[in-house]
Amino acid sequence: MKIISVLGSTGSIGTNTLKVTSSFPKAFRVAGLSGGNNVALLARQIEETRPEVASCGNERASAELQSLLRQRGYRMARTRFVHGVEGHIEVSCHPQTSIVLSAISGAAGLIPTYRALELGKSIALATKEAMVMAGELMMRKSREKQVEIVPVDSEHNAIHQCLRGGRRQEVKRLILTASGGPFRETPKERLSSVTLEQALNHPTWRMGRKITIDSATLMNKGLEVIEASRLFSVTAEEIGVVVHPQSVIHSMVEFKDGSLLAQMGLTDMRIPIQYALTYPERWDTPLPSLDLYGLPKLEFHKPDLDKFPCLGLAYRALRAGGTAPAVLNAANEVAVEAFLNRGIAYQEIPQIIESVLDVHTPQDSSDLETVLKADAWAREEARACSRITAQAISRR
Ligand code: NDP
Repeated sequence: MKIISVLGSTGSIGTNTLKVTSSFPKAFRVAGLSGGNNVALLARQIEETRPEVASCGNERASAELQSLLRQRGYRMARTRFVHGVEGHIEVSCHPQTSIVLSAISGAAGLIPTYRALELGKSIALATKEAMVMAGELMMRKSREKQVEIVPVDSEHNAIHQCLRGGRRQEVKRLILTASGGPFRETPKERLSSVTLEQALNHPTWRMGRKITIDSATLMNKGLEVIEASRLFSVTAEEIGVVVHPQSVIHSMVEFKDGSLLAQMGLTDMRIPIQYALTYPERWDTPLPSLDLYGLPKLEFHKPDLDKFPCLGLAYRALRAGGTAPAVLNAANEVAVEAFLNRGIAYQEIPQIIESVLDVHTPQDSSDLETVLKADAWAREEARACSRITAQAISRR
């Protein structure tokens, strides 16, 4: 039996993970769950999985959760209730846990994931921000502890699968596919007036709000380029991006001999989640097969870096190295949150990120403290930019 802890269990990836584990009740047991503020959903998940430990975003949410469960007659002694970063660490580091499914959105997922790696636990990684911020550190730790970080992100999961078809020295380049997001066909001059609702309307995937906005700006692809570089030890020049609106091919690997291996599948995150939890084995899925006869024509286009500057900014941060990716990530998180709160316009997201990157001098990112310091600094800078932008908008 595989014993797992789920960080971010109340999110889109977290709920899909629990669907996967519940379809193999004899093979998986859930030892720990961590959510943020969605206490009602976390309570239902606790009743269903009866974990040893459950963590919430803060003390208030944890008190609310416990009171709700008590009212519903849950046997409270079954579970230890914790909260905050220390609580999430208890979940990821639970002594019985062997696999941590890491799916807290944003930088908050880094520390609990890293602590689990230090204990030699296998990681099924959805939280790409952790790999963007501290990828070199995480990969070094995984080598030192001889544990796998298996990507859940569908593109990296696809590449992980394709790489099983050849040796590393035979790889020419990795090709990440991108749906192009909701504004793929929107003319550049109309992007200044797009709304939050339009940006949240992703054409092919149903995901959390932050990653959905990242997909609309193509920063999601930019973060994925950095994540791929860290996970698979390749340079920026060895990673290409192709816009593939149908999202049938999840990514590809080109080998030196001209062969291209592509991984195809339904747009359903339960497939990569199950792969990551069962690796190196493959288990039956309860999902239907991909209907090849029903597929639309598959298209491939060059990404428009002029229209979507976030992708170029991510390549720039990857090439700059050191703390630059952590700074890019932090500035993006702040800008996206401001956009989600209707404080800034869509097109101001890349402007804020660029102005923070412009004033950053990258430092060596070989320890966690330096990474966290760069993250905090970038957040302050980005908040200052967002405030100036928001004031300008309110005066318009
Ligand atoms: P969601 O927004 O749906 O879920 C995020 C989860 O993280 C929720 O459980 C939320 O808790 C929790 N959370 C957020 N902030 C904190 C915090 N500060 N402390 C503790 N918990 C917190 O996101 P997704 O599931 O869509 O994405 C999760 C991660 O997976 C992201 O990094 C994303 O980039 C990555 N990913 C997602 C994909 C997808 O298809 N959704 C595909 C590939 C990667 P609560 O809701 O209870 O407040």
